[in-house]
Amino acid sequence: MSDGGTRGAAIPPLSPREAADMAASVLARCRELARLSEDEGGLCRCYLTPEHKRANALVGRWMREAGMRVRQDAVGNICGRYEGAEPGMSAVLLGSHLDTVRDAGIFDGALGVLAAVEITARLHRDKLRLPLALETIGFGDEEGVRFGVTLTCSRAVAGTWDDAWLACRDESGVPLRDALAEFGLNPAEARGAGRSPAEIAAYLELHIEQGVLLEKARVPLGVVSAVNGARRVECCFYGQSGHAGIVPMGGRKDALAGAAEWISAVERAAEADASGCLATVGFIQCGPNVVNVIPGLARMRLDLRGPDEAALDCLYEEILRAGASVAGRRALSFTHEQFYRVRNTPTDARLRSVLGKSIRRVQKKNFVLSSNAGHDALALAALCPVGMIFVRCRGGVSHHPDESVETADVAAALSALMLALADIGHGALQS
Ligand SMILES: [Zn+2]
Repeated sequence: MSDGGTRGAAIPPLSPREAADMAASVLARCRELARLSEDEGGLCRCYLTPEHKRANALVGRWMREAGMRVRQDAVGNICGRYEGAEPGMSAVLLGSHLDTVRDAGIFDGALGVLAAVEITARLHRDKLRLPLALETIGFGDEEGVRFGVTLTCSRAVAGTWDDAWLACRDESGVPLRDALAEFGLNPAEARGAGRSPAEIAAYLELHIEQGVLLEKARVPLGVVSAVNGARRVECCFYGQSGHAGIVPMGGRKDALAGAAEWISAVERAAEADASGCLATVGFIQCGPNVVNVIPGLARMRLDLRGPDEAALDCLYEEILRAGASVAGRRALSFTHEQFYRVRNTPTDARLRSVLGKSIRRVQKKNFVLSSNAGHDALALAALCPVGMIFVRCRGGVSHHPDESVETADVAAALSALMLALADIGHGALQS
């Protein structure tokens, strides 16, 4: 391994006591951040809301206390920079997202951002600098809850922002363009959030697993091999509305009954797939949605994910054929339009190796797994090498208030991340 780290200080590993204290601090901050919520009873923090602004202010303050120079970028990401041995060097970027789903858990996203702040605070306290700069980012929009487009903010940073998103509207009809302006940003400058490959040497994300593989393997940490491919498709059945008390059962064109039959077929098709594909219809609108009228319209959104692109395409085709077949039998029409597609995205081999090595030092053995959930790392892969560590979460529960992580597991994650940074500082990415 080359010695590219001659100008930076050696980064010592965290002592168990130190890691435990830091983990406790990260979790306390996750809880504090979770108080910034749109809903009183549960956690919900969407993109470009007043709560997003307050979250940026709070995390920005923590970043500053950790020795970072802080700015908010052109799409509302909160960004902190801790210089390396010399100012102006390219950076290792750490982070995750600060937005949440509705009635969310408090660790999804926040854990990765606050762990990065804690790691930097430790370097700052001990006056240690890497041969590279260390940046932390809290992405404003990963979940896509408000405007229906996911990874908006990480795609902006990766330079793949699409101005067409500015016209996307939230539930109240507010376009993203206006929401950016209301937040104090200039929508015409959104692309300005893009970074260049010369500025960012690597992106590392720590995230809860949102699955049960680590729990089953009885290990706190795993290195992510790839973010699985995904498709999202809007599908509609069109039939004929009619009086529920008059049109005989045999003569109906009930779009919602057709949808119900198709959704069952979707579930069966995914269950029969051996490659690990998942299929979900999680959104449905019925028209006219009145108790005494036969539904003439059922509009749904289908979500497909899987580790194998060919198997995913195959399942996709089968599900569309099932839709056409249901429509044919019931004299309905069936339409489909894919509105989101990502290919299976592998993480960087060198970063996998660096992270795997540090995980082995922390928990004796490495564990490799792929992610069915999308992550900011997926978008950043267009800009730089990306690596991810997953932390075990109880029962795999996520996107739910019961989301839970153990302090000891977060301590293990901080230790592994610090070891990985030391390794990168010593030229692991140049070798
Ligand atoms: Zn997340």
